[in-house]
Amino acid sequence: MSASDTSGKMPVLFIGHGSPMNIIANNAYTRSLESLARELPRPEAIMVISAHWLTEGTFVGCMGSPETIHDFYGFPRDLYEIEYPAPGSPDLAKLVREAVPDGLVRCSDGWGLDHASWSVLLHMYPEADIPVFEMSLDYTFNDRHPLPVEYHYDLGRQLGPLRRNGILVIGSGNMVHNLGLVDFNTDAEPFEWAVEADGKMKACLVSGDNAGLIDFEGMGKAAELAVPTLDHYLPMIYAIAMQESGESVSFVYEGFQNGSVSMRCFRVG
Ligand code: ZN
Repeated sequence: MSASDTSGKMPVLFIGHGSPMNIIANNAYTRSLESLARELPRPEAIMVISAHWLTEGTFVGCMGSPETIHDFYGFPRDLYEIEYPAPGSPDLAKLVREAVPDGLVRCSDGWGLDHASWSVLLHMYPEADIPVFEMSLDYTFNDRHPLPVEYHYDLGRQLGPLRRNGILVIGSGNMVHNLGLVDFNTDAEPFEWAVEADGKMKACLVSGDNAGLIDFEGMGKAAELAVPTLDHYLPMIYAIAMQESGESVSFVYEGFQNGSVSMRCFRVG
């Protein structure tokens, strides 16, 4: 597929990235990422909407050579020595800015690839030979209120046409993500509320109830515990916003890590 090819359409992904320990793991989750990449059409470039790049306003990375950011603390030394030297794609990042009203998405040279990108891409594309750039989450607060989830959904809808430019969009976060209640044992039994919230979210994905996912607070106490802050949830909202009518969601991986983190990953289209 070339950048000018309008016949093909890239799928959209949501990937639960979980703990940085997955960077050096070989488990059912990492193996599901490897097989996913083998099934996908080869992208011209990858845009990761990152749970770990929170900004006032929305930015895309416009560097030719984005640096690998080791944005985690207290993990084994090996993790800090790993680089993911994929090139950037200033040209395709420009297309993102052109897809939305003037000035809504701006260019940044100040952020490379944080672990929401490379912890996942390392398993999908270990050669690091596909250009990658990130898009940030607008985390502006007004009177201590974040922007509404609908704002992100509407922005995501405007990004849909990029799928026909060979761009693989990956929302990278976790649908259920409560670090305050995390169990340091990766394989800990998931909390009941985590299973309940993940199940309700899955049901919305299966039935195409995007409104239910936008209004996750309506799911009750379990969802409140599952989404204590919006950062890891919003990348999923972008993924469903780019879904076209008639497209279904298929699950790439389902499971939990650390008791309070759902590793659910899905593909649209
Ligand atoms: Zn994270």
